[in-house]
Amino acid sequence: MSQSSALEFIRQAHPAPTPPDRRTAILRDPGFGRVFTDHMVTIRYTEGKGWHDAVIGPRGPIAMDPAAAVLHYSQEIFEGLKAYRTADGGAVMFRPGENARRFQKSAERLAMPSLPEDLFVAALEHLVSIDRDWIPEGDGSLYLRPFMFASEVFLGVKPSSEYLFIVIASPVGSYFKSKDSAVSVWVSQDLTRAAPGGTGAAKCGGNYAASLLAQMEAAKEGCEQVVFLDATERRWIEELGGMNIFFAFEDGSMQTPPLGGTILPGITRASIIALARDMGITVREEPYSFDQWRADAASGRLKETFACGTAAVLTPIGTVRSRDGNFTIGNGRSAAQTEKLRSTLIDIQRTRAADPHGWVHKV
Ligand code: PMP
Repeated sequence: MSQSSALEFIRQAHPAPTPPDRRTAILRDPGFGRVFTDHMVTIRYTEGKGWHDAVIGPRGPIAMDPAAAVLHYSQEIFEGLKAYRTADGGAVMFRPGENARRFQKSAERLAMPSLPEDLFVAALEHLVSIDRDWIPEGDGSLYLRPFMFASEVFLGVKPSSEYLFIVIASPVGSYFKSKDSAVSVWVSQDLTRAAPGGTGAAKCGGNYAASLLAQMEAAKEGCEQVVFLDATERRWIEELGGMNIFFAFEDGSMQTPPLGGTILPGITRASIIALARDMGITVREEPYSFDQWRADAASGRLKETFACGTAAVLTPIGTVRSRDGNFTIGNGRSAAQTEKLRSTLIDIQRTRAADPHGWVHKV
């Protein structure tokens, strides 16, 4: 499908953009995912016609028929990435091509049409350009949320013949309230997130709906996040509700669960593996069991555990709780390997350091 480059984006004027002083006030403490920029991008898909009607317009409610397929059968996928403000007043995105490719894979798994990579990236570029003033200064960033859903009006279980792709943007501060300290996690031994052959490797809304009860259980246990185990044996560590997980050992090596189809192939995960290997660190992509995690934390063989993802970047895990008891990693706070990888990654993302892999995409 090579129509994308030819597709022109139509710009619709905003009747009442946010006044600059109001925007400045919002950007002082945006929180996470609560406030949004003035614009959005929309592109429609119709079977037989392909992608059409690309529009950059005011952000606002979308009219949907109550029989729109997504409201019944959840044919929906999304992505998440960030744009950063650079020292010279410009803007960059981090590895948007990777998000475009993962979006295509998610679409394939959900029997949805493939959005060409250049069209996906062009949509992001347009939104970041038009809403550039919404990128917070300092530690903040502009979280970009591309998503696509089945919009055909039809009550029947089949792939939709019409879709709507939208990109919205949200200025954000840090994801966790306690920025400098480690988070606690609850290991869910009953509820699972994804089974072999299922949709675990796709970024579809249904996966997140299915994770909420376990996340509620975690919160009830006083934990910030839930860790899922594999659905077959309830033995192997998979990932968190919205983050991948890494373990760092006494001998300097690291380990992370392999991409076997039941976990999301995180772009932060891939970037950390590359950066760690650049540093000469051995990184194993191999299964790690919950029992081993507990034993290694107790023996001191395991020094650090961290979660990673676009929203939370690298977040140390300090306390692990489960039905079978609790344990602490190291001294319960962030440690050297986590901090070094985090600052290396952040410095590349914010163009404060060289970009040896060419990950930063100027807008
Ligand atoms: N796992 C899940 C389930 C996620 O939702 C996310 C966030 N997209 C991640 C891992 C981390 O992925 P990324 O580094 O691409 O943000």
